[in-house]
Amino acid sequence: MVLSLLFFSLHVFCAREERKTEENRVIEILDGDTIRLSNGITVRYIGVDTPEEGEPFYLEAKEANERLVKDETVRVELDLQARDKYDRMLAYVYVDTIMVNLQLLKEGLAVIYPYSPNLRHLQEFCAVQKEAREEHLGIWSLPPPPKEPRYLALKDSYRFHRPNCLAVTDKPLEELRVYSSREEALNDCLSPCRSCKP
Ligand SMILES: [Zn+2]
Repeated sequence: MVLSLLFFSLHVFCAREERKTEENRVIEILDGDTIRLSNGITVRYIGVDTPEEGEPFYLEAKEANERLVKDETVRVELDLQARDKYDRMLAYVYVDTIMVNLQLLKEGLAVIYPYSPNLRHLQEFCAVQKEAREEHLGIWSLPPPPKEPRYLALKDSYRFHRPNCLAVTDKPLEELRVYSSREEALNDCLSPCRSCKP
């Protein structure tokens, strides 16, 4: 009886492990920050953004992602919000002990893109990005965009803007944080607005 129970649990355990392994194998690299698993689920990496097609370092980011995860069995860690509006799974993705989201930041092939409420690793991401910036790796080797005398961010947001961006022009000063440089806003873990590209 005990033996048969033992075999039964072993069998269940193995079956579960097998399924888990199969479910989490990476079969397709869609771009630098998006992959597809063998169970059909599309996974978007949390908290980072890689260049879009046509932008500098798009291919490098996609290739780095491929090198890290293609055909690998990965472990996914969720944050507070598990899906985005496109029904993609939002996750921190691990190959062994390497977190891919973080590794891309380390190589300067992704920038942080904080999005509430998935902020668990933001401070670590921000620190690693700072190192990549200081070493002028990847994206951070590009010449910076034209400068503004100051940059603005809404107090409850993780984006910063040029002063003439529509996202901030009609906002009262008390709702805004003001930065004297792009570096200062980046150090504060904000990411550049995709529309005014500061
Ligand atoms: Zn803007």
